[in-house]
Amino acid sequence: MKVVLSVLILLLAIVQPCALGKEHTASVLKKRMALYHRAEAATQIPWYVFAAVDQYEINIRKNRKDLPKKKGYTGIYIPQDIWSGPENPNQNDTSPLSIKVFDGIGMDGNGDGRAEADNDDDVLYTFGKYLTTYGNDLANIRIGLWEFYERDQSVGIITGFIKLFRKYGHIDLGAHAFPLPIRSDYSYRSTWGDARGFGGRRIHEGTDLFAHHGVPVRSTCYGIIEMKGWNRFGGWRIGIRDIHNTYHYFAHLNGFSKGLKVGQIVEPGQVIGSVGNTGYGPPGTSGKFPPHLHYGMYKDNGRSEWSFDPYPYLKAWERKELRQKKK
Ligand SMILES: [Zn+2]
Repeated sequence: MKVVLSVLILLLAIVQPCALGKEHTASVLKKRMALYHRAEAATQIPWYVFAAVDQYEINIRKNRKDLPKKKGYTGIYIPQDIWSGPENPNQNDTSPLSIKVFDGIGMDGNGDGRAEADNDDDVLYTFGKYLTTYGNDLANIRIGLWEFYERDQSVGIITGFIKLFRKYGHIDLGAHAFPLPIRSDYSYRSTWGDARGFGGRRIHEGTDLFAHHGVPVRSTCYGIIEMKGWNRFGGWRIGIRDIHNTYHYFAHLNGFSKGLKVGQIVEPGQVIGSVGNTGYGPPGTSGKFPPHLHYGMYKDNGRSEWSFDPYPYLKAWERKELRQKKK
């Protein structure tokens, strides 16, 4: 029994990373881009709006057990009663005509005469058509998004993705960087979940990277600066959200890079501030503990947020940069 179990665990360990990696392969990203461009041609809603909403929904589906697993390449989920119409006796209706009669929003986007809630083209077209009832410009699209999600946080995150995809012109923005220059003098160990740490009285929600005062702190991802300022425990700190809805948190900074502001786009490796030992008091307090970067990672599933251990990620990014340096 024990042998079977360990073989199973081994198999899972091997299979799991491959399954997760599928989302990010070049061919999947290419297929998704083609879908967004088709939807733009059919609805006049810009491709990066589809890409942003879709990215948000793909992220959520991965972290919510109450939503069905996605079947195609896209993740936008339109509940069956909204798709077919709440009063529709056939909740699996695919006839565009009767769906319309029952006030459903489902439409046929690929021209096969059926409106299918699990067909990528049909879903994107339907969502695009829904947005065009508000307008084609970003201000009106945001209103449409708010009416759909009824949650400021969701609209804020999607708006950030729109900015990112529009700026870079593609959706391949999953690259990462180690938060400190790989050549600098630093040390860190796994401290996530410790009872005590610098920067908080609850469990330690991050990894402390000890380094000298003033060592540059770099963005770990492509993302949007969501928060910047002072916190009693965190001192000068900054929060960046990436396209996988991971929130990257940097605390106890000595200061920020010039001109950095909330809503701004950052790239992996871009300097955002420097290592310090601020915190544990009113704004400007410093020197109550040795200088270090507190780095935390958080997830959002469309309803709530939780912390997870950044240590394995830091190790992987560090290894990758060390390998690249050798080449
Ligand atoms: Zn810490």
